[in-house]
Amino acid sequence: FRHGESSEVVVNTPNGPVPFGEHHPVVIVAGPCSVENEEMIVETARRIKAAGAHFLRGGAYKPRTSPYAFQGHGESALELLVKAREETGLGIITEVMDSADLEKIAQVADVVQVGARNMQNFSLLKKVGAQSKPVLLKRGMAATIEDWLMAAEYILAAGNPNVILCERGIRTFDRQYTRNTLDLSAVPVLRKLTHLPIMVDPSHGTGWASYVPSMCLGAIACGCDSLMIEVHPNPAKALSDGPQSVTPERFDTLMQELAVIGKAV
Ligand code: PEP
Ligand code: MN
Repeated sequence: FRHGESSEVVVNTPNGPVPFGEHHPVVIVAGPCSVENEEMIVETARRIKAAGAHFLRGGAYKPRTSPYAFQGHGESALELLVKAREETGLGIITEVMDSADLEKIAQVADVVQVGARNMQNFSLLKKVGAQSKPVLLKRGMAATIEDWLMAAEYILAAGNPNVILCERGIRTFDRQYTRNTLDLSAVPVLRKLTHLPIMVDPSHGTGWASYVPSMCLGAIACGCDSLMIEVHPNPAKALSDGPQSVTPERFDTLMQELAVIGKAV
């Protein structure tokens, strides 16, 4: 690409290639925080596919604040993600926390996610940069834009050009009403500073399902290339991030709301 031009990241899925980038429709990534069991992940995948999503997200390895909280089902969850892809043709996005797990995750995932807590895990960044699957790099919760772009640079410098940036909220002082402060200004700022595709995650960004739809609309208005939305068939029973997960019904309506504005999905 030439200076000032956007690059695109094209991800091959069973349903066909999905391009992320400024000149393409908004790519929708949806699914539960964690892969809990076969029924819920396959059911969620079917529902989000029917609503128009392109990728299924779901954690097998979860970075939880408390070591006593559910840590994810690990390898068996990766197998369930494979099943969900076979059922729906959706691409799979899942997080790597430890480079010891990278190879098996990269065998399954269509996009490997590096979470907020690992954004500056430079040895992990070098390793995801040395493998061939596209990488989704979430913003660290106290990272400046410069920190974040330099983290992306580690992946690019290691030889992997397919990096997508995801704004997921930065540390807030108002823990009472929002989990994080979703920095939507990051979208136009990144557009000016980098050629890389830009995703926004209003679920982690706000922490509450009821605020997700308006922030999705806002993110599209700001020019994002992709959205990540947590969806759970029964949020009240979720093993992680239930309060910020929308139901499949709400997701379906949200997709209709998104389709009527701007860079339609
Ligand atoms: C997630 O996507 O479920 C997650 C843990 O995100 P983050 O790294 O942004 O907290
Ligand atoms: Mn989550």
